[in-house]
Amino acid sequence: MAMASFIDRAASAASRVLTNFKMSVFEERLAAQVIGVAFDGAAVKSPEGSASLDIIIRLLSRLYPTIALRPLDAKARDHVPALELLAKSINPEIELAKIRKQVTVALVVGSSLPRTKCPTFFIGSDGWRAKLSSRGPVGSGASMNPFGAGAASCFAAANVFRMVFGEQLEQGGPDDIIDLSMLTYAQAIPEAGPALDGVDIGDTHLVGLGAIGNGAVWALARAAGLKGSLCLVDHEEIDLSNLQRYVLASQCHVGSPKVDLARAALADTALEVSTHRAKWDAYVNDRDNWGFERVAVALDNAPDRIAVQGALPKWVVNAWTQEIDLGVSRHGFDDGRACLACLYLPHGKIKDEDEKMAEELGMPEAKQEIRVLLQTNRPLDAGFVERVARAFDISSESLQEFVGQSIRSFHQRAICGGVVMRLTDGAQPVKAVVPMSFQSALAGIMLAADLVKHASGVLNVPTTSTRINLLRPLAAHLHDPKAKDTSGRCICADQDFLAAYRRKYEISYPN
Ligand SMILES: [Zn+2]
Repeated sequence: MAMASFIDRAASAASRVLTNFKMSVFEERLAAQVIGVAFDGAAVKSPEGSASLDIIIRLLSRLYPTIALRPLDAKARDHVPALELLAKSINPEIELAKIRKQVTVALVVGSSLPRTKCPTFFIGSDGWRAKLSSRGPVGSGASMNPFGAGAASCFAAANVFRMVFGEQLEQGGPDDIIDLSMLTYAQAIPEAGPALDGVDIGDTHLVGLGAIGNGAVWALARAAGLKGSLCLVDHEEIDLSNLQRYVLASQCHVGSPKVDLARAALADTALEVSTHRAKWDAYVNDRDNWGFERVAVALDNAPDRIAVQGALPKWVVNAWTQEIDLGVSRHGFDDGRACLACLYLPHGKIKDEDEKMAEELGMPEAKQEIRVLLQTNRPLDAGFVERVARAFDISSESLQEFVGQSIRSFHQRAICGGVVMRLTDGAQPVKAVVPMSFQSALAGIMLAADLVKHASGVLNVPTTSTRINLLRPLAAHLHDPKAKDTSGRCICADQDFLAAYRRKYEISYPN
């Protein structure tokens, strides 16, 4: 049994949501868990069941050092090697336990009712409906719709996390029953919803292939029957720390461009996929056509989101994760509702990067010096690293490996990556927000779901935004009204922008 090589990153994420976080206690608790995943032939045979199984393994393997796969019949047994391979591709050191009695929390996919002696959650789906139950099997549907199946596994992974760390969460009890339509975000409505066959996503862009983008691509890759053009835009490469929550990423992908990972995942679909390894601004500047029929936004900061809205896409869907919750918002521009920029306009003073970094490095007085280091990208000298060590009251040898690196890389690895937190056993918590894998994955699945709904004309939700908190039982109401900005500062209040939007789409995309 061994922790994943990116466990410090996972600990950073957990330290943001767990009270009284201590690195040593966190690891001890993880080491004591054996997460069981039981499944039957019915699960393996159903596209929805196998989608649920695929993503639950992808989520669990990123955090828990020991998993016990339990096939419930011969057909399920044949499927074990593929799931083991998947788990090992994410954490090569993961222990795949064979003995049933050790299991501390169990998940079941399929129609069978295995005997378990520990808390157990049954995962299932029916088309757009995500189902989870703590009482008995809920079964998986036969459709090629991955949205209910994928969301159900995110709910299950969240419940496992809450069972393991419940004492350190406020109101972190388990769910009893979830029956949520990913079509309407209404609950307990017994309808599978329309099929996806032949849905044409037209001219769609997906901007940002981080953790949310990974969740979206996971779902689009399994939504058989989709056609149309999907243009992927992201400038970065995969870092080891990304494995903490990128559902598509394995060890072999570290160092590869994120667009390549996404394109490979979509290889078996009928979508026409193109990739652009660039930031959105650069991509837009290089493009001849300024019409954007539909843009899915999986970016992680406000300025980049405002830049996407500034390019005036005809329609935008945006997903986000924050410390506690996650969600999705949809935006026209000329429809009287909030545009994407309305939601991300800066209110009050926004801290500059140098000021934020100086605080996170424990040296607020060194803001000027850090600004210069950011501008010049100069390698850090031993003196600087020593001062950071002193600020955190840790030995300077422990940060020696970072001498010679750029300040951004030092900050990313030592602070966000959890090195300083480990050295202080959690006494110096990570200040940057790092979501848990099941939060980012669900946000991505919701992003893809709303994109597909919009393309097929069935998007019918009463509010601009929908919000889900996975750190407590599912709330009764998920709709989140978002007001349009009323200060008059937003581009959607600007007559020139409105006129440009109207001109653009009357010509390019007649309704
Ligand atoms: Zn606006």
